Amino acid sequence: MDKINKIIYADHSATTYVKDEVLKEMLPYFCDFYGNPSSTYIIGRNSKRAIEIARKKVADAIGAGTDEIYFTSCGTESDNMIIKQIARKNKYRGNHIITSKFEHLAVINSCKDLEKEGFEVTYLDVDSNGFVKIDNLLNSIKDTTILISIMYANNEIGTIQDINTIGNIARMNNIYFHTDAVQAIGNVKIDVKAQNIDALSMSAHKFYGPKGIGAAYINKKINFDSFMSGGHQEKNKRAGTENVANIVGIGKAIELSNKNVYEYNRKLLNLRNLFICKLTEKVPCIRINGSLENRLPGNVNINIQGIDSQVLLLMLDMNGICVSGGSACNSNEKTPSHVLTSIGLNTFEAQNAIRFTFGEENNEQDVIYIVDTLCDIVKKIRMCC
Ligand SMILES: *Cc1c(COP(=O)(O)O)cnc(C)c1O
Repeated sequence: MDKINKIIYADHSATTYVKDEVLKEMLPYFCDFYGNPSSTYIIGRNSKRAIEIARKKVADAIGAGTDEIYFTSCGTESDNMIIKQIARKNKYRGNHIITSKFEHLAVINSCKDLEKEGFEVTYLDVDSNGFVKIDNLLNSIKDTTILISIMYANNEIGTIQDINTIGNIARMNNIYFHTDAVQAIGNVKIDVKAQNIDALSMSAHKFYGPKGIGAAYINKKINFDSFMSGGHQEKNKRAGTENVANIVGIGKAIELSNKNVYEYNRKLLNLRNLFICKLTEKVPCIRINGSLENRLPGNVNINIQGIDSQVLLLMLDMNGICVSGGSACNSNEKTPSHVLTSIGLNTFEAQNAIRFTFGEENNEQDVIYIVDTLCDIVKKIRMCC
């Protein structure tokens, strides 16, 4: 491993560290309470009980029933399971699915897979501010539409969609509504029943829980078959021995995050405002991508004119600053971000955007250090402006 001196981490949309309280609750389930939850003796029952407590915490955080929560291995699995399995089981009702052009690849590629199985998918346009066009949604509904899948908050530009309106439209047209809420959990209060959300995806490592654990909420009125063939775990809907420690972790993490939503928002909004204020003061020709209204509080996505993001990211890394270009999932590719092109950036701009996402452990000194470092680097490498 590379030697780590002081690092400033501002890439919380890629992943977060695990909070101490979360880790502390997980630890006994590795060496002490290691029983298989399907076993009937005491350590098995202990594991089973821990899972059900965690399930209640996840359900309570989003206003769902405990019988509507399924644990998965990650956000990607939740998206795949929800979209593919709901679509397949409900194909007799119609074969049309509506999603948007700037979904996470877990959603886009699940839809692409379904197209090969004879489903028809509409990928809605997004406006230049980063919001799904509602009139476009209304116009694309057909008799055969069975599922609408629109993300709660975008992972690259942080824009929060009008989920209440989309939920209403889905309900009025008797169409199931799924939202990928992987970025939203911990940043917004969600009530799946009040918001007419029928299915939702989440992932613990985006809200200070461990990697490798996700959850899917699926309304109990919806029929779907297990994605994995195997045993009877998770009410026959997700075979495989439960990841007990991680399930305990997602339960604790969502409980803490949900309790802290308003405070977290205020804190991150202050950091973001400070960042934008200092940055625009010190570095000319900055463009912010996506609306600053209705946006995840910690997210800033920018282009700096005349700056190659690859060079900038390398130099920030040399200074111990961890941020990303676009999103972590796309960072090894030369292809421009599909999210940024969907809001109207050209290929060059989309390749050179930089995303800062602040989080729990960041403070004002971090923000000022980042801006000062950025300013020095830009002075050295700027080609114009
Ligand atoms: C991170 C992310 C995912 C994938 O979650 P994993 O747990 O990493 O598989 C899906 N959707 C969005 C919006 C994300 O940000």
